[in-house]
Amino acid sequence: MNIWPLTAEPPFTVGGVELTAIAERFGTPAYVLDEEHVRHRCREYRKALHPHRVAYAGKAFLCRAMVRWVREEDLWLDVCSAGELALARSAGFPPERILLHGNGKTPEDLAAALDYGVGRIVVDSSTEVTRLAALADDLRHPQKVLVRVTPAVDPHVHRAIATGVEDQKFGLSLASGAAAEAVRRVLGQPSLTLAGLHCHIGSQIGLTDGYETAARRLVAFMAELGGLPELNLGGGHAVAYRPGERGLDVQTFADRVPYAVASECAARGIPRPELTVEPGRAIVAAAGVTLYRVLGVKHGVRTFVVVDGGMSDNPRPALYGSRYAVALAGRRGAADSRPVTVVGRHCEAGDVIAADVPLPADVRPGDLLAVPCTGAYHHSMASNYNQVTRPPVVAVRGGRAWPLVRRETPEDLIRRDVG
Ligand SMILES: *Cc1c(COP(=O)(O)O)cnc(C)c1O
Repeated sequence: MNIWPLTAEPPFTVGGVELTAIAERFGTPAYVLDEEHVRHRCREYRKALHPHRVAYAGKAFLCRAMVRWVREEDLWLDVCSAGELALARSAGFPPERILLHGNGKTPEDLAAALDYGVGRIVVDSSTEVTRLAALADDLRHPQKVLVRVTPAVDPHVHRAIATGVEDQKFGLSLASGAAAEAVRRVLGQPSLTLAGLHCHIGSQIGLTDGYETAARRLVAFMAELGGLPELNLGGGHAVAYRPGERGLDVQTFADRVPYAVASECAARGIPRPELTVEPGRAIVAAAGVTLYRVLGVKHGVRTFVVVDGGMSDNPRPALYGSRYAVALAGRRGAADSRPVTVVGRHCEAGDVIAADVPLPADVRPGDLLAVPCTGAYHHSMASNYNQVTRPPVVAVRGGRAWPLVRRETPEDLIRRDVG
């Protein structure tokens, strides 16, 4: 699986634009996003999964252009906060194709969703059912909801991203009866309609067997309820971050998982529900490349290459021990390479972009570095740690580059400080 954008000629151009030209014009660090790659992945998913529904999980990366692309490619959109919803709304995403999920929705999240008329709300607790029912009381039509179920499937990924096992904060347990209790509550509320069940078993899942098991367990529960119109199997499809790694193959997923649903439905004598899948990372991760400028090279026990970004634009190595590939992007380096550790500028020893990666032996201050596969959970997880301003997002396509999100400035930071 390719870790670079579809249109890249790594490590020098993306979308027909020289990375050095982007760095000159927009500064560094900068996130570069390949529009064609995003659209291509949307189409691949739509085609492989037809006639099932594909919803893009906006938390991976969202800005108004992304909302438009997803809309034009006919996907649905997952949001998990009033903020993400406001972005979708401001770009005119059709409300009936929006799902709101989250384990702790605030009254403001719920009110914003009802106000815009989102298609589905995924409920995550019994108290949320009651709260939502009260808020939905004066709607003209009942609000369609899905109940988020914990199917007790362990996808064998990092603990921080295993969301379908019993002992974590998401969803309602099948085993304990909590899911059944939430279903009873939904059915008892005239302002709500139970559209179906939802699960999301984790992230960076490379094999389909966990999805098949989860799907069969949810269908079994559906059968106890006499069948339901919809089954949402969440996202979590893995991508390759480094050469030689493999992501989840969408065609294999499409060949196997709907079949598991259909056969389980047949065995239990219920009609097949409409299926939805919610990829986030798999749509946008490999579309993104982050550009950094080398500030210094420090030789010691190991060689540290210090760049002008770090954990504020990519917290994933610190959070999950994620590993990345790094390339020298501005020039052809020396033929021989040596292992270096690329680190950020933040006041943390754990502020590492990539440990022990090969770079040309003559890497030096002023060089431009490119880190591929940084389109998902980078901009959306960026922070202002050390009062560092967040990088811009620059789209590329057909030899043209243009800003989607501008670079943050110190004035932006000071404007919020009203005390
Ligand atoms: C995070 C999330 C997704 C997307 O996960 P990826 O790993 O980006 O595919 C989909 N659905 C739900 C409910 C999520 O929380």
